[in-house]
Amino acid sequence: MNVATRHRAAEVGETVLELRNVETFYGPIQALRGVSLEVPKGRIVTILGANGAGKTTLMKTVSGVMDPEKGEVLLEGERISGMDPDAVVKRGVAHVPEGREVFPFLTVEENLRMGAFTRSDTAGIADDLALVYDYFPILAERKGQPAGTLSGGQQQMLAIGRGLMTRPKVMLLDEPSLGLSPILVKEIFAIIRRLNREQGVTMMLVEQNANVALRVAHKGYVLELGRIVMAGDAEKLLASADIQEFYLGHQAGDQQRGQKRWKRRKTWR
Ligand code: ATP
Repeated sequence: MNVATRHRAAEVGETVLELRNVETFYGPIQALRGVSLEVPKGRIVTILGANGAGKTTLMKTVSGVMDPEKGEVLLEGERISGMDPDAVVKRGVAHVPEGREVFPFLTVEENLRMGAFTRSDTAGIADDLALVYDYFPILAERKGQPAGTLSGGQQQMLAIGRGLMTRPKVMLLDEPSLGLSPILVKEIFAIIRRLNREQGVTMMLVEQNANVALRVAHKGYVLELGRIVMAGDAEKLLASADIQEFYLGHQAGDQQRGQKRWKRRKTWR
């Protein structure tokens, strides 16, 4: 691949983010074991997995918070693994971390403007601020309020809004449903879907809530003990017996057969 093609912006449907055989460790503990995946432009790709599967490590490896020991992370063909997190943000990866991490003593608007710290296009920043307020009207109502006074759901909206202010090529969303009521989860996911459909925002979404994630995503990967054990179109994953049993809590077939299947040692199909 020559330099011109390496740095060409991806078209809708082409791979914007790619992981190739990524292995990440915490000292001697290996958290990612040869993870390869692709996120196409304009799509939502979800990463499912139980506690400790390696989802957060995966996000941190993409955003540059952690460096992989092996393998590489590519953004539009350019290697970003090994870069500092701020360089990764500048190249177009916005990380909306688990637990939101808004600045509690800054106002809502100051938090949003912090998201644009890498940019100098004043008019563009104003447009994006208006866009965020359009999608999250509650943030406009509360723009002068310290972020620490917002509810959990509003802080999640603010964290997503701050991510949008970077004008990302890909947005990493780590467990946006965490700790929120079912009504708020529905509301936030409806906005995530609209941002993708109307603004073409590409997203990599980590979720334990497979049900909501697979309904909003185009494609999914299942991570278990640091390995991808299943991948495919979200619709197919949602219909798969394995996902039904292990992530959505349904058992296939009649009760007796279902129980047998449940007890059997898992083999991913
Ligand atoms: P959760 O849904 O609980 O956040 P996860 O899928 O995001 O889980 P990770 O947090 O990525 O999983 O953890 C992957 C593995 O790495 C686990 O075995 C975990 O115990 C281990 N791990 C995570 N953070 C550390 C750390 N700071 N030091 C050592 N091991 C860690």
